[in-house]
Amino acid sequence: MREIYSLERSDFEDYFVSKGLQKYRATQIIEGLYRTKAKSFEEITNLNKDIKKMLSDDFSFSTLEIEKVQKASDGTTKFLYRLADGNFIETVLMVQSYGYSVCVTSQVGCNMGCKFCASGMTKRIRNLEPFEMVLQVLLIDNYLEQMEKRVSHVVVMGIGEPFDNYDNVLKFINIINDAKGLAIGARHITISTCGLVPKIFEFASYPLQVNLAISLHFPSNEKRSAYMPINKKYPIEEVISACKEYYKKTNRRLTFEYILLEGVNDSIEDAKELIKIVRHLNAYVNLIPYNKTKEDLARTSIERRDKFFEYLIQNHINAIVRKEHGTDIDAACGQLRVNTMKEKEEKE
Ligand code: SAH
Repeated sequence: MREIYSLERSDFEDYFVSKGLQKYRATQIIEGLYRTKAKSFEEITNLNKDIKKMLSDDFSFSTLEIEKVQKASDGTTKFLYRLADGNFIETVLMVQSYGYSVCVTSQVGCNMGCKFCASGMTKRIRNLEPFEMVLQVLLIDNYLEQMEKRVSHVVVMGIGEPFDNYDNVLKFINIINDAKGLAIGARHITISTCGLVPKIFEFASYPLQVNLAISLHFPSNEKRSAYMPINKKYPIEEVISACKEYYKKTNRRLTFEYILLEGVNDSIEDAKELIKIVRHLNAYVNLIPYNKTKEDLARTSIERRDKFFEYLIQNHINAIVRKEHGTDIDAACGQLRVNTMKEKEEKE
């Protein structure tokens, strides 16, 4: 049986047409699921009994269990969800000046193996299905609704490499973007990738104006390969030529993420190399404070970070320093999941 939250509008339309029904039924069910937020087929009030019966024969109406909620002093809230197969994933709600942003997990674990990343410490167990990503957002939207708020932005920057689960992630985006459903605007959605080049090319043909962020982090192949194994497969030049093509085709501005690691990639020499790479792309550089996950890596000091930042600005690079969220909870992607798994192992 298919999961009801894994269907996008065109899937519902195809389904209803195949049953000899009208296409507009798709809008009715989308409104029922994402506006009136029915918790069962019974609760979808704008569909008649026969259609509800048919739907319940053909689709499951699963949800996610909330295992743990951690709230930081700045309002950042982490949700640890338990999936039907017992795996855990985490989702973060961030309170921003411009709204409420949800950081979504796309895989259980991750195979990219970046040395500084908590998620990379556990191998990928499986990809998430579209409904498992949709529910991460929907359940947080329900949580916010109690305070008369709603989710305004979504970033696919949680556990996993979204371009390693490409089809499901794009379906998820189509679902949350539907104007009759959660209606998260494409420009309010960001996907972050460590640089899977063929998928960057493919993504250039995706019709929605979704933002793309590239985890560059290191300005030379030597350094990048030492911390990000994917760089051996897709080195910086290939990532950049894919980005150029992407920009030419879509005109969408790219973001390059750059974690500042003390003594590793934070000198003025590093900044110079970074400028050479991004200069001809109309891109932002997002300087990210490192959340400690490893003993031998440290966060760059504020003074050094400011120097690096100023140098980029003086050289006409659009740089920003990412504001930190939830530093008093397990803030780094994947930390809550890894820590909970450790706790459970210790108890057993
Ligand atoms: N796999 C995707 C998305 C998930 S990670 C990607 O690589 O982009 C989201 C962002 O958090 C990436 O830029 C990632 O490099 C960064 N990140 C990972 N570990 C981090 C840490 N310990 N501190 C700060 N940022 C981290």
